[in-house]
Amino acid sequence: MTVGPFMADDPDLQLRGQLVRRLGLFREMLPGSFVEHKRTCGRPNCHCADGKSLHTQYQISVLIDGKPKTIHIPEALVDEVREKIRLHQRFEAAAAAICKINLRRFLKEREKS
Ligand SMILES: [Zn+2]
Repeated sequence: MTVGPFMADDPDLQLRGQLVRRLGLFREMLPGSFVEHKRTCGRPNCHCADGKSLHTQYQISVLIDGKPKTIHIPEALVDEVREKIRLHQRFEAAAAAICKINLRRFLKEREKS
């Protein structure tokens, strides 16, 4: 790919290019926020019955069609889901950075017309 000298010199365009090329990294992202709950299971002989060594329950809170939902996450998937939610946060940050660059460019363009 050849790039004109003007584009190669524009740090905004360089940054935007980097950000856009990185977007593919976020393809496995998941929405929502991760929630940890401590609870007792109610079985009288369980270790949690002392009220201290409680069970940890993992959930994500997420909007589905605009409605808040809580989804249970099995312990085996906790690390994976946490990471995928983190990807979404990084995606949001990258999208915000791209929008900021584009807005700055738009305002510059608008002054000329
Ligand atoms: Zn228990």
